[in-house]
Amino acid sequence: MGVVRVRRPLPGPGPATRPARTRHTDVTWAHARADPYPQPVLHLHDTRTRKVEQIVPSTPGLLTVYACGPTVYRYAHVGNLRTFLLTDLIRRTAEQHSLRVKLVQNITDVGHMQDDSGIDDGGEDKLLAQARLEDRSPFAIARFYEDAFHRDLRALNVHPADAYPRASEWIPSMITLIETLVARGNAYVGTDGTVYFSAQSFEGYGAISGNRLEDLRAGHGATGESTATSAKRFHGDWALWKKAGENREMTWDSPWGRGFPGWHVECSAMSVDLLGETIDVHTGGIDLRFPHHEDERAQSDSAVGHEVVRHWVHGEHLLFEGRKMAKSTGNVVLVSDVVAKGHDPLALRLAFLSSRYRTQANLSWDTLSAADTLLGRWRTAVAGWAEEPSQAMSAAYRDEVLAAFDDDLDTPRAVQVLRRLEKDDAVAPGAKFETFAWADRLLGLDLAREVGQTRPVAVLPEGAGVLLDARAQARSDRDFAASDRLRDELAALGVVVKDTKAGQEWSLA
Ligand code: AMP
Ligand code: ZN
Repeated sequence: MGVVRVRRPLPGPGPATRPARTRHTDVTWAHARADPYPQPVLHLHDTRTRKVEQIVPSTPGLLTVYACGPTVYRYAHVGNLRTFLLTDLIRRTAEQHSLRVKLVQNITDVGHMQDDSGIDDGGEDKLLAQARLEDRSPFAIARFYEDAFHRDLRALNVHPADAYPRASEWIPSMITLIETLVARGNAYVGTDGTVYFSAQSFEGYGAISGNRLEDLRAGHGATGESTATSAKRFHGDWALWKKAGENREMTWDSPWGRGFPGWHVECSAMSVDLLGETIDVHTGGIDLRFPHHEDERAQSDSAVGHEVVRHWVHGEHLLFEGRKMAKSTGNVVLVSDVVAKGHDPLALRLAFLSSRYRTQANLSWDTLSAADTLLGRWRTAVAGWAEEPSQAMSAAYRDEVLAAFDDDLDTPRAVQVLRRLEKDDAVAPGAKFETFAWADRLLGLDLAREVGQTRPVAVLPEGAGVLLDARAQARSDRDFAASDRLRDELAALGVVVKDTKAGQEWSLA
């Protein structure tokens, strides 16, 4: 679903003196398939198997991905965005291998405990606390920060997911899942009326995090909530459905009375409902390994009777100026802060790409500024190369960039390869343009944007490049029936083709 950013046919000398150009990368990539090299494949580190694994979709041609989304009680900070970018990189790389990616990212607008290390059972969650602080309804808070989350994703060129299910709109499905778990003997109603998952009922517990049930601290459930009461049977059990305390907002009726769901159960319900009982890749930040993903796996696998998620992929945390990003210490940086400093938000994306997702990156204003400078330099260079005669992209550099992404998203290596290409005098400027334009499908940096311009130049829809080339061929073969048919197909994609003496030219409808 990625788009190809290309330059419009340039103004200046008329078509009689300038050969018509169709700037795109589909065709050269399509030609590359005929290369005698084996087709590379995406590899990712799987937290559960602790190995870098080859990612082979369970359904040929379709990669299903579930990404844990934001808890919408505050703006996403740049650390959160680094984790969301990880999913986008997986998606873009998979798409280069002609996989269709079906991505679901949840919106947690209910049930995420205030402080994962000690809250009274009747206690409030982060959303309710923020609602009180801002004197707004919890739903108004959730919608406000959900909108902000989408704006941040757009600013970072993160392709939208196929669905953003909200936890608050998924309650009936969570209840059905909990009923299944109770019926299967994996869950029970505690003496306080809350429904708990029985950790000991799931044999593989701990495979993701390495935590063993017998080592879990007594007095704390896997969710981290305080269990001073002896309402549950085993200290490692966690709440699936919490009985609502007095005066609590955001509660729903259930077979176990009025209450609200635990955080982990939302991801089990939404992921299986929307992506099915086998999900290829599940992403999230490293802190979600335990208890969130450990508990989600126990729930999902117990409900369906087999391993649901094939690969668990976790991004390391981002530090800022060497410190953990936390509201409590005032060390929180937002996209708006980056823009306020005069930086393009995509400088943030480039700064993220400069470290690998599995390392604990340390961002600073200096590194952001350096990334902004490099971004500007590349855009200027790309604009300059676009003026030069068109050339096929460099297959060698393309292979190196893709191999770096395939190698567990070694994005710093990909950036280095492009720095090398930038300076390589043996590669013609037109070929540099094509290679950078192709690489930008993975990088997502709007490299074909003119410096100082706020919007990228023309965007050729995916697949249109191949059609344009086929039509040029049909015309040179004087096969006008095919040429007309291809023009209609292009029109359906929103591309208008005009025939000039110098050949065909295109524009977007
Ligand atoms: P939250 O909105 O708190 O639920 O977090 C959304 C996502 O951001 C989760 O996948 C977290 O694991 C991730 N996350 C939280 N803090 C950081 C950080 N400092 N760096 C990278 N990812 C983070
Ligand atoms: Zn989740």
